[in-house]
Amino acid sequence: MNASRARVTPASAKAGASSPSRIAVIGAGIAGIACARTLMQAGHDVHVYERLTQAGGRMRSVNGPYGSFDIGAQYFTVRDPRFQQALDTVPQSLRSWSLNSIQTRNAQGRKTSDPSTQRETHWVGMPDMQALPLAWAAPLWESGRLHLGQSVRAINHHIVGGSSHNSHQWTLMLDTEDHGAQTASGFDTVILALPAPLALQLLQTAPQGMELAKTLSSVEMAPCWAMTLSYPMAAQAGLTTLGPQWNAARTTHDRIAWVARESSKPGRAQTERWTVHANPLWSNEHRNDDPTRVLPKLQKAFGEITGIRVAPRHASVYLWQHAQTLAPLGQPFVHERSSGLGLCGDWCIGRRVEDAFVSGLEMALAIA
Ligand SMILES: Cc1cc2nc3c(=O)[nH]c(=O)nc-3n(C[C@H](O)[C@H](O)[C@H](O)COP(=O)(O)OP(=O)(O)OC[C@H]3O[C@@H](n4cnc5c(N)ncnc54)[C@H](O)[C@@H]3O)c2cc1C
Repeated sequence: MNASRARVTPASAKAGASSPSRIAVIGAGIAGIACARTLMQAGHDVHVYERLTQAGGRMRSVNGPYGSFDIGAQYFTVRDPRFQQALDTVPQSLRSWSLNSIQTRNAQGRKTSDPSTQRETHWVGMPDMQALPLAWAAPLWESGRLHLGQSVRAINHHIVGGSSHNSHQWTLMLDTEDHGAQTASGFDTVILALPAPLALQLLQTAPQGMELAKTLSSVEMAPCWAMTLSYPMAAQAGLTTLGPQWNAARTTHDRIAWVARESSKPGRAQTERWTVHANPLWSNEHRNDDPTRVLPKLQKAFGEITGIRVAPRHASVYLWQHAQTLAPLGQPFVHERSSGLGLCGDWCIGRRVEDAFVSGLEMALAIA
């Protein structure tokens, strides 16, 4: 999937349609995809609008010169049988990551506690994390219902029909990669499958969104600086790996929360590569910093934890503006039938891939 294959919905597309089942889902992360797929399977006319040129959201992976990195979600666990059932439909897109355990290590990389998630399987996408959302999004894409490179700037509500039988419809104001400003009209329902702060911004573009906007006041999300590091010189020197014997750890370092050897995940290129996530507090304090200032600070911390102090051949940093839920909403979705607005996403119930899936699914089931 890429921008050149993205289909543009012209302003006039289905304008004025009065079918009760024309639904716009904004955001093609796991929540939006799970929601849209379920609605499509139930026979609704669903269209997904995604700002980026790829689906996946915070399950996005990037390719570097020495292999791929999962810069967002690192793995996922499965507790809800409905999630397991959906995963069973795409076995080729999954592998278990054979971590014996995920340990906690201190600022010097020493083990500080026994793992808490030892009995759970850690699943990863195959060949990268993004493979899972792409596999689930394929039916939407193939039926022309996934519109990539289309950022929703505002939502407009209007009343249609005669005085005896008024109904409402929604129009999306879009900024598109290929065709500039566009609109997409005639939606009975609009579902915002976005991180809570972005959903709040869109709700505030329509008077009918103000009530729902209030429900988001208790939700908190934190940013995350992600760093990717490549060390091709390990193999060139005849070593299988550099540094520690372990492959992934949470850390109590004051800058970094997580380090993982990408090359230890199944199906990945073997060149030594690490993904590093700064902790929420540090990421928030440095959210406005220039990446060139962030990179050396995180590299220094990475060296303290792993003992790898040699300069990487390739390094980059990326800021997730709304990465992790600190305070969830406490209910799986929000649906206001009178206005035709809905909200879903991981932040409704937690901060995990499975939470996003469950939220999107339950949102769809409430409508379907
Ligand atoms: C650094 C990091 C590490 C993580 N690690 C783990 C982990 O190890 N295990 C785990 O289970 N979970 C992890 N998570 C959380 C997991 O990634 C999320 O819970 C899940 O992916 C959220 O899915 P979502 O659909 O709710 O939101 P998102 O994935 O954020 O999807 C929202 C989508 O909306 C799009 N969008 C935004 N604005 C607009 C607009 N105006 N118009 C159109 N589209 C728009 C975005 O581009 C995005 O694609 C991690 C997240 C991050 C960032």
